[in-house]
Amino acid sequence: MENTANSSFLRQSSENKPLEELLAAPTTNGKTTIHDIVKPVFPNAADSDYANAQQREQALNSIGKARLQLGKTYLPIINGEYTNTAQIVDSVNPSNPKEVVGKIGLISVEQAEHAIKAAKAAFPGWKKTPVRERTAILRKAADLMEKRRHELTAWMVLEVGKPLNQCNAEVSEAIDFCRYYADEMERLDMGYKYDTAGETDRYSYQPRGISLVISPWNFPLAIPTGMTVSSLVTGNCTLLKPAETSSVIASKIAEILVEAGFPKGVFQFVPGKGSSVGDFMVKHPDVNSITFTGSQEVGCHIYAEAAILRPGQKHLKRVIAEMGGKNAIIVDESADLDQAVAGVVYSAFGYSGQKCSACSRVVVSAPIYDAFVERLVEATRSLNIGDAEKPSTQVGPVIDDKAQKRIQEYIAKGKREAKVAIEMTAPEDGYFVGPVVFKDVSPNATIAQEEIFGPVLAVMKAQNFTEALEIANGTNFALTGGLYSRTPSHIERAKAEFEVGNIYINRGITGAIVSRQPFGGFKLSGVGSKAGGPDYLLQFLEPRTITENVQRQGFAPIEGVDS
Ligand code: NAD
Repeated sequence: MENTANSSFLRQSSENKPLEELLAAPTTNGKTTIHDIVKPVFPNAADSDYANAQQREQALNSIGKARLQLGKTYLPIINGEYTNTAQIVDSVNPSNPKEVVGKIGLISVEQAEHAIKAAKAAFPGWKKTPVRERTAILRKAADLMEKRRHELTAWMVLEVGKPLNQCNAEVSEAIDFCRYYADEMERLDMGYKYDTAGETDRYSYQPRGISLVISPWNFPLAIPTGMTVSSLVTGNCTLLKPAETSSVIASKIAEILVEAGFPKGVFQFVPGKGSSVGDFMVKHPDVNSITFTGSQEVGCHIYAEAAILRPGQKHLKRVIAEMGGKNAIIVDESADLDQAVAGVVYSAFGYSGQKCSACSRVVVSAPIYDAFVERLVEATRSLNIGDAEKPSTQVGPVIDDKAQKRIQEYIAKGKREAKVAIEMTAPEDGYFVGPVVFKDVSPNATIAQEEIFGPVLAVMKAQNFTEALEIANGTNFALTGGLYSRTPSHIERAKAEFEVGNIYINRGITGAIVSRQPFGGFKLSGVGSKAGGPDYLLQFLEPRTITENVQRQGFAPIEGVDS
């Protein structure tokens, strides 16, 4: 195995490579790009190490401490003030729905109007605030998150039922977003200089205006943090509307951003019902940008609504919409099955299949199909399903009763469309769904085409690699995808032909890391540049070109101003 590593001399010498290449001094990736020269490696935040007893204890103690504060009320922040609301709803623990994690004040349409007015008033000042001041606030927010790492982890475990170690990785991602976008804004702030003799030509960026962020519940800390701080650091006054089921965590983000120093009106926290208040803000003529992550259905609705020019609106809105996926992993006949089975199981059932990047289809080469399915079934059988806060839990609950019912309906449909390879039982209390693997699924079956967003995996057989790619590409989505293979020509074809935004080869397909693996899809998985990547901030900015004739013009000072 060692001698067949892609980088090994023995393996490469059998690929007819020229002698000079084989004998050349090793480089990190074979090819030097401009980024190797100008960009240092971004230092990602480190996760806690739960193998270390002290860190594990700290995490569990934090859950205990958070429990002492259950049921507290969290209010919106409008123009710098915590504001009372007429409507208050409960956010419950999906592992144990009797436990009310927090009570959330939902804003009314009038309060949304008030917040947009406050954002409008704050915009001229925020636009002029030097970039270094804005980036300092982001870096302070990152430091505050690091300080509160265990506490944030605890609230995620309790509010969205995500297993402990995955919550911890999410805190690191949120911290990375703050630091990475601060670095990126400082880079963009330098602008470009295209001067010629007698003329200066300067290319720079300005913020777009009022920015609405609408976030999902499944990455309740990292996604809203990333979308919000990118919008803020680029100089936009930003309103954060989180998903109803993860508003307690979102209010922790709000607390941190206010403490870090975002001025009143610049950042506002506006929890509310998506279909009423969310919709109202999307349509508002003073909103310039909408940054959405969530389902395809809501994303397409927002895209259409934002395209309509409303009375009084003097601009076209920009929509960034990161939406769903129906992600496939191809396992070919040369794959290392131990590696493939473990990677597929983690990618499919980590956070109960509720990651946008989760694997929901496996396309397996005919010669190894039966062996793979057999091992996949046994690996699935070994999963621990239970309360998210137990360190031994691998599969926790799904987010709420509606999701549970929807997933169960898909499972019932799957039983009519394909064969059950394994269906696990799950605890009765709480919103649990046991992982299900369907085998011999037709590529056109509903369970092979629609995003289920739960622990349901469809296994399909392909006669050859061309067919495997066709099946993998045969949905409306293009978010993540993976390949397990030891055949170089298959790996090359997958790199070129697999239609996904993020492709992972010989590893799991979830857990993208800021700066190293910028994340996002195309086709009906979304419009927008990749989060955590070098083009992301450009979406929140308007570029401007300023050309000045600097040949002798004479000098006519205004008295008292220029003299
Ligand atoms: P959702 O679409 O139900 O809700 C997302 C947000 O939209 C929530 O804040 C909700 O309140 C709001 N909303 C709902 N209706 C609205 C309306 N009419 N106008 C304005 N806002 C409205 O999605 P969800 O269930 O929270 O999240 C799960 C979905 O998110 C999955 O489809 C998943 O694939 C997707 N997702 C994608 C990515 C990605 O990067 N591509 C990342 C995470 C999640």
